Amino acid sequence: MFGRAAKRVNDTKYYDVLGVSKNATQDELKKAYRKAAIKNHPDKGGDSEKFKEISQAYEVLSDPEKREIYDQYGEDGLKEGMGGPGEMHDPFEMFHSFFDGAIPSGRGNGRGQRQKRGEDVVHSLNVSLEDLYRGTSKKLSLSRNVICSKCKGKGSKSGASMKCSGCKGSGMKVSVSQFGPGMFQQMHHPCDGCNGTGERINDRDRCAQCKGNKVVQQKKVKNVIVDKGMHNGQKITYAGEADEAPDTVTGDIVCVLKQKEHPKFKRKGDDLFVEHTLSLTEALCGYQFVLTHLDGRHLLFKSNPGEVVKPDQYKAISDEGMPVYQNPVMKGQLYIHFKVEFPDSLSPDHLTALEAVLPPRSKPQMTAVELDECEETTLHDVDMEEMKRKEAHAQQEAYDEDEEMPGGAHRVQCAQQ
Ligand SMILES: [Zn+2]
Ligand SMILES: [Zn+2]
Repeated sequence: MFGRAAKRVNDTKYYDVLGVSKNATQDELKKAYRKAAIKNHPDKGGDSEKFKEISQAYEVLSDPEKREIYDQYGEDGLKEGMGGPGEMHDPFEMFHSFFDGAIPSGRGNGRGQRQKRGEDVVHSLNVSLEDLYRGTSKKLSLSRNVICSKCKGKGSKSGASMKCSGCKGSGMKVSVSQFGPGMFQQMHHPCDGCNGTGERINDRDRCAQCKGNKVVQQKKVKNVIVDKGMHNGQKITYAGEADEAPDTVTGDIVCVLKQKEHPKFKRKGDDLFVEHTLSLTEALCGYQFVLTHLDGRHLLFKSNPGEVVKPDQYKAISDEGMPVYQNPVMKGQLYIHFKVEFPDSLSPDHLTALEAVLPPRSKPQMTAVELDECEETTLHDVDMEEMKRKEAHAQQEAYDEDEEMPGGAHRVQCAQQ
């Protein structure tokens, strides 16, 4: 089952390194590690090889699963990768997390708290209102970095990497430039020898697949499901599917829905609004029209006999709005906003005919004044939209002038008030 390494041994090296017996409890192991690690820490003049051995021994023995494998098959059993990652923790990181109070679990997540998180990749996805009404799926072509499968993100064939000599592993370089007599400027910039990574891989040891980059590009087409009733600006998140990088928690792919304006339907929440223009005759004498809905159905609208529609009147129909997201059986309202087109002018004949059937006109309210005492007036047409535009423009200009005269102009204004 374990191949050639499944040979039972009686290896006690890890116990010996920590100075405990083979049936030591977790508590005894912890105490032994603490004592040995402090005593042998390289910062206190200890031997770094010995320090590494101590943390490796503790890492294995503190994990019940690994300890069992070690007890039965020895160090070789662990190397063969039985029951978990054979990768050992950085002994210094382990030492720190131990004394910070966090006990490494030995399963690779002791390092997790320190891992940086990769960036999220945001894509915007164009959809139509029809798409949001009916639901759809969209293909999204992606190109992402993935950890090289050949070197498992090490970048080298052997798994080894060397500290970059140019920056001593820091990834940053400092240059000093003189920009005046006795004036120097210190500049920090990423090391060009290692591209800021702090490590270099021997040319001959470079992984052939990723050329030492640790990651390779992968093209992928993602099928993004747009559910019925989703909204403009809504995010669809694929956790952990962004670019991979070594020792980094992979970020998310985020698709943001961007709805194209619809020529006919406007959406507010789960409701839909449609503007419909009637002629004056339709408004007074009755209308009938067909509206093609977002799913292609034809809805017939007609007035009740004798019904009059006034300009800017709204009417609504239930359950013909947008489907409710995550509950698409429910639907919002569909509102019809009626506009009424009046004729520009009427002939004297029409006037007589109309006056005969329309309700009588209201009499001029003459009380104290007689008609011949009034002044004659003439009204002219006004474009209110144009007036509003001009007003807004003038206000903006006044505001801009205020901006140009900081302080002074405002003070004068205040004093005058
Ligand atoms: Zn590789
Ligand atoms: Zn470097």
